[in-house]
Amino acid sequence: MKILGWKELPIGGLILEGGTAAQYITGGWRTMRPVIDTAKCINCLTCWCYCPDSSIKVENEKITGFDLDHCKGCGICAKECPPKVQAIKMVAESEVRG
Ligand code: SF4
Ligand code: SF4
Repeated sequence: MKILGWKELPIGGLILEGGTAAQYITGGWRTMRPVIDTAKCINCLTCWCYCPDSSIKVENEKITGFDLDHCKGCGICAKECPPKVQAIKMVAESEVRG
C-alpha cells in the first residue's frame, strides 16, 4: 500500500456536496421511536414541519410513516402533534426490537 504524503491527502473538514447526511444510518443511535396511530391522525403535517431530520414520510399530503434509518428519536413530532389529537407516542426501542 502506498503511503500518501501530506500534500496528496484530501483536505479534511470540507463538505463538498449537499445532502450527504442521507448516506449515514443515523437512526442507529435511537433509544426511542415514534409510533403513529393513523386512526387518530388528522394529517395536519405539523410533525412533518417540525421534524429536524426530515424523517416523517408523506405521500399525497398524508403521513405514511417514519424514516427509521434517519429518525433519531428526539420526540419532537410527538410533542408537536396537537394536544387534542396526540397521534404519535414514543416507544422504547427495547420494547419493539425485543
Ligand atoms: S422522533 Fe424526532 S427525528 Fe424522529 S420522526 Fe419524530 S421529530 Fe423526526
Ligand atoms: S402532527 Fe399529529 S395529527 Fe398532525 S400529521 Fe402529525 S401525527 Fe398526524
